[in-house]
Amino acid sequence: MKRILLVTAILIPALSCMGKNPSLYKTYKAAEPAAGAPAETGETGPASGAASIQKQLARAMELAELPPAISGDIGGNSGAFAGDLQGILAEEDPYLRILVDKRHPLPEGYEPKDLIELRYGSYRAGIADPMMLRRKAEEALEEMAAAAKAEGLVLTVSSAYRSYEYQIGSFDRWTRRLGLREAERVSARPGRSQHQLGLVVDFGSITNEFAQTAAGRWVNANAGRFGWSVSFPRGYEELTGYAWESWHYRYVGRELCAFIDRWFNGIQQYALRFIHEWEHLAANQRQGS
Ligand SMILES: [Zn+2]
Repeated sequence: MKRILLVTAILIPALSCMGKNPSLYKTYKAAEPAAGAPAETGETGPASGAASIQKQLARAMELAELPPAISGDIGGNSGAFAGDLQGILAEEDPYLRILVDKRHPLPEGYEPKDLIELRYGSYRAGIADPMMLRRKAEEALEEMAAAAKAEGLVLTVSSAYRSYEYQIGSFDRWTRRLGLREAERVSARPGRSQHQLGLVVDFGSITNEFAQTAAGRWVNANAGRFGWSVSFPRGYEELTGYAWESWHYRYVGRELCAFIDRWFNGIQQYALRFIHEWEHLAANQRQGS
């Protein structure tokens, strides 16, 4: 991820400035969000023959609008990719991989079942309010923070779980402060925030100065080892719909982090979009059989 961000920063230095144009977000015209909860199983459905898997793979890549470099690599190594994908889909918690963005809200009324209050073992609180995460995310955060601490760095958590109701107020505050068009770049509408998953942490100052701090550099280089993935990387506003957020990390698990790095150039949005389309096609196949 570090290498990719660096390359991006060199090749596309103008993009963060281009971010001033609020119409940058290019909505892709793929499948509508599936109603209700995401698929609970890792089955790929009847598309089990090699030929039909190839076809489903090509279709999912097309619907996810992957760039040619990524789809070319996947298509050229489809056996290895399919094997890795099976591992990802076998994860029994679908919320680790669910796509939540401007076009794909969470199921209505979604609230994680296993939220716990932050325990502040190796990390600190950046604000006074009580904060919560899902248990597995808190454990992974503690593990990462302990590793950072061993290198003399303290990670500070400034935002974690945010409920649907909280996000109503938050989006409203941003809109009053910046106007609707700018608010859309920096804040999610209720139901469309990854924070509602209870799997997301905002670190430090919640500004991109974080990227220049020792802690920010350490997190950028090491988060993947602990299952944390940056959601809105620099230079990808058109893809993600959000300006660069060097401080916002989503816990997706180690396996999915490695999958994102190996097959999707470290870009979470591409991977989750592909998985979304793949599961959508698989569900349609099951229905049709
Ligand atoms: Zn955030």
